[in-house]
Amino acid sequence: GTVEKKFKVSNIQEKLQSIKKELDVKPWAPEVSIQELITSLLDKNDRDAFFVADIGVIMKQWQKWKKHLPNVTPFYAVKCNPTVGILKVLEALGSSFDCASRTEIETVLNLGVDPTRIIYANPCKQISALKFARTNNVKLMTFDNVSELEKIEKFFPEAELVLRIAPDDSKALMRFGTKFGVHIDDCADLLEMAKEMNLKVVGVSFHVGSGCFDAVAYDSALTMVKKVFDMAKNLGMELKLVDVGGGFSGSNDEMFGKFTTVIREKTAELFDSSVRIIAEPGRYFAASSHTLAVTVISKRIVKLEDNRQHPRRTSNNMRQYNYYLADGVYGSFNNIQFDHAKPTPLLLKPTPKQPTPCTLFGPTCDSIDVIARDIQVPELKIGDWLYFAEMGAYTTASASSFNGFCPPPVYYYCSPVDEDQL
Ligand code: PLP
Repeated sequence: GTVEKKFKVSNIQEKLQSIKKELDVKPWAPEVSIQELITSLLDKNDRDAFFVADIGVIMKQWQKWKKHLPNVTPFYAVKCNPTVGILKVLEALGSSFDCASRTEIETVLNLGVDPTRIIYANPCKQISALKFARTNNVKLMTFDNVSELEKIEKFFPEAELVLRIAPDDSKALMRFGTKFGVHIDDCADLLEMAKEMNLKVVGVSFHVGSGCFDAVAYDSALTMVKKVFDMAKNLGMELKLVDVGGGFSGSNDEMFGKFTTVIREKTAELFDSSVRIIAEPGRYFAASSHTLAVTVISKRIVKLEDNRQHPRRTSNNMRQYNYYLADGVYGSFNNIQFDHAKPTPLLLKPTPKQPTPCTLFGPTCDSIDVIARDIQVPELKIGDWLYFAEMGAYTTASASSFNGFCPPPVYYYCSPVDEDQL
């Protein structure tokens, strides 16, 4: 017991130490503010935009997960942010991984992760990726339709299948129900088909939708899972795994507390201890770990009467500013388009100037490249810096290099964490 635990802890700490060395992770002293930290980086590089990634956040989120959901194994959703620092730290902590593609599986295997710590959680898989999963013994995978079963029967008959059902996702920002998940009424047929094909169904998964804001979603989804367990039992199949998906907030502790209470209580009520409970959190780990610093590369004064974009505007203040930033919606701010994000600019340096109306554009030649329209910011000059907090989830992961603007580099820091508690 204790010896084993001590060994595990020292093993984790050793791994974390070597990750810190490899990624040149600098310690982040508690008395240093994010503004001071970003400012210290400005002199050391000639970048126009960069991320500060705090791996301490990942460790603290891990500790919080273990406290609130000690019996739920997290499989980090790699799609959310596949930055090497996040993946390596989570690997060291003992996390498992949710992969959506062959490339993600390959990336995670290359970290030295055992294939049993991977779920291939994309209900619609390429045949080439299925073959790759089979070669590498990544057995656990989701499915939600007949053609997927036929594919698996042919290309990976030993796979361990998790039936993805469609829960009520109306309480989420990003709803997946129109694309994935089988309706509860169709589950029995699919299970029967899997049985006829001699395929091994081991469990049920759902995703309440990314950015979920109501704990009831987990309650009703788990009730649905239990119904599927009962259906399977009637068919002589014994299911052993429940996958509660993602949807956990990375910054709202109160909401996380509510969701995890429901999951703890409901799983204890519905399933006995032989049933393994797993989850696929993405945003929960990544969101708060990254801050984006970005400079003003150009500026234009728009006389409002000339501004054809706002011909009806009436204002006493007859000028507004257009600022052009070094990163935009084709880059890290693609979360505006894909993740309903509304990024808030923060000033790196305090100023006595009064806020004035402005619009923040990204750097590309496309007019859709708008980060925030008609907001109030004290007047900026070229070369001033803004920063945006909470930029770790679904940002770099889906950024393009449109117009040749490549995703910003990442500088790693580690805020204080009680590493003995990991
Ligand atoms: N699992 C699956 C299958 C997903 O599609 C997603 C997000 O798209 C996640 C997990 C992660 O969701 P979240 O970032 O809300 O935790």
